[in-house]
Amino acid sequence: MIPISRPVMGPEEIKAIEEVLRSGALTQGAKVKTFEEQFAAYIGAKYAIATNSGTSALHTALLGSGIGTGDEVITTPFSFIAAANAVLYAGAKPVFADIDEASFNIDPEKIEENITNRTKALLVVHLFGQPCDMGQIMKICRENGLTLIEDACQAHGAEFDGKKVGAFGTGCFSFYPSKNLVTGEGGMITTNDKKVAEKAEMIRNHGQTKTYVHDMLGYNYRMTDLAAAIGICQLKKLDAFNKKRIKNAEFLTKEIGKIDGLIPPRVMPNVKHVFHQYTIRVTEDFGMSRDELKQRLGKKGIDARAYYPIPIHKQPLYKKLGYRDDLPISEKAANEVLSLPVHPSLTGGDLKKIVGAMK
Ligand SMILES: *Cc1c(COP(=O)(O)O)cnc(C)c1O
Repeated sequence: MIPISRPVMGPEEIKAIEEVLRSGALTQGAKVKTFEEQFAAYIGAKYAIATNSGTSALHTALLGSGIGTGDEVITTPFSFIAAANAVLYAGAKPVFADIDEASFNIDPEKIEENITNRTKALLVVHLFGQPCDMGQIMKICRENGLTLIEDACQAHGAEFDGKKVGAFGTGCFSFYPSKNLVTGEGGMITTNDKKVAEKAEMIRNHGQTKTYVHDMLGYNYRMTDLAAAIGICQLKKLDAFNKKRIKNAEFLTKEIGKIDGLIPPRVMPNVKHVFHQYTIRVTEDFGMSRDELKQRLGKKGIDARAYYPIPIHKQPLYKKLGYRDDLPISEKAANEVLSLPVHPSLTGGDLKKIVGAMK
């Protein structure tokens, strides 16, 4: 089976965790600090604060930006559920703006339609590794005085106009095993705002200002030095991993573009798309449903997945919360999308096998 994702771990990572194990410093310590400094420098942000997951990074970023009860946060309905849930954790209300058909990312025009006097923040998701339209989004934030939070959990190293995502607003990253950079469980917040950085640092460690002095309600969202040691090694390889993902995607697009009824992913202008996922659309013209294609690829040893089959506003939890939005572009995407393996450990043979099976 060609898996949909596979973390690439080498002797460097094994040596690095062995060193941490022998040192006995197993929780947040020197390795976390080093990883934060190197990650901030890589993204081009002033500060980076490590957490134990992408979800806790999102929660902490929202709280650190002062988002809370009564606030509305505009976000995308077509993504993993974590970003919307983090808004709920903060006691605020997620407001869903539909996506752009070509990029799968939130549509700036739909954002504007949803702004009210309660709107405090914009939580955009750079889905599948492709940056949102940051030109339009930065303009909307400026004109409406909105805080920008970026869910960059799938977009480590992705760029818009030569600037890395996570450096536009407050960025949130995940290092879950399927992501472009892996630590197991792990996350990171990046920001240029000193106040947000200071607050985030407290929130991830029980609101502590000095040892056993707690200034505010916080959580245990600390990263371990074990995770950070892996992250330091992975960060050195990230650009090479992304380069391989981009090359794999180019090969797939060249071949899949020739098949009627399948739409390869579109790379939007001014972006560096880092292909966390390679996501095609299976349209009616293909003569087979997305689910049938997925199943038949599975039988041929290719692990294709639908990311994401149910938009967030249609999830049982959100229906129970009263969401009744009609978001047709997201709903159509949820029925048509299929992600194919694109990860850096694919061989030339794997790529040929995927394309052959598709044909
Ligand atoms: C993975 C992911 C998250 C959550 O990250 P975890 O580390 O699994 O908590 C959030 N948003 C998006 C878009 C993701 O892909």
